[in-house]
Amino acid sequence: MIKEEIEKLIELQKVDEEIREIENEISSFPVLKNQLQEQLNKELNELNFIKEEHKKLQVERREKELELHALEEEVKKLKNRLNEVKTNKEYNSVLAEIENLKKKISDTEDEILILMERNDEIAKKQEDFRKKSEMMKKEFERKIEEKRKRIEELKKELEGKLQEREKIAEKIDKEVYSLYEKIRKNKKDGIAICKLEGETCTGCFMHVPTYIEEKVKRKKEIVQCENCSRILY
Ligand SMILES: [Zn+2]
Repeated sequence: MIKEEIEKLIELQKVDEEIREIENEISSFPVLKNQLQEQLNKELNELNFIKEEHKKLQVERREKELELHALEEEVKKLKNRLNEVKTNKEYNSVLAEIENLKKKISDTEDEILILMERNDEIAKKQEDFRKKSEMMKKEFERKIEEKRKRIEELKKELEGKLQEREKIAEKIDKEVYSLYEKIRKNKKDGIAICKLEGETCTGCFMHVPTYIEEKVKRKKEIVQCENCSRILY
């Protein structure tokens, strides 16, 4: 009698463990989704940062080009003035000013060249990141879709397991069943019934007294571990 109840409990425990595993995998889905989304967001943030840098660089370059243009206009004006100056001193002074501006023009041209180089670099970096984040997004979507399908399957599997569980559970003595349930719900690992290996409870790995061991062997009653309260067999 007790022997049969124990056998049914072991069977129930096996199904409960399977149910637990399925439920764990199902509940890990949102976690995985969040992790992947976080990785992707990080990449997209980096891409946005590079885009901003690129924009700033372009603005800077445009400003420099306007500056260059203004300097060139200034040189033109001064060259015209050279024809109008009356004194040698004035002539030399305008000439010096032109030379000064030419130096500035040359410096500005150098700066623009550097900005252009940096622009090329950042444009390449931006393109690399764009490709990378696009690939990541695709990979992300693929993984999510794959997992979503797996979850669908698991849900079906779970339904089957729950039905199986019900069939086993309804055959178990009510009192025995409610004791099993009480213990199962109290245990983090969901294990309510476990083997006694020699004198050791395999649920909590504590040594059990001899009289408990004997009671388990006699199979006349449901015996619980005094330490973890799991049912022993
Ligand atoms: Zn125990």
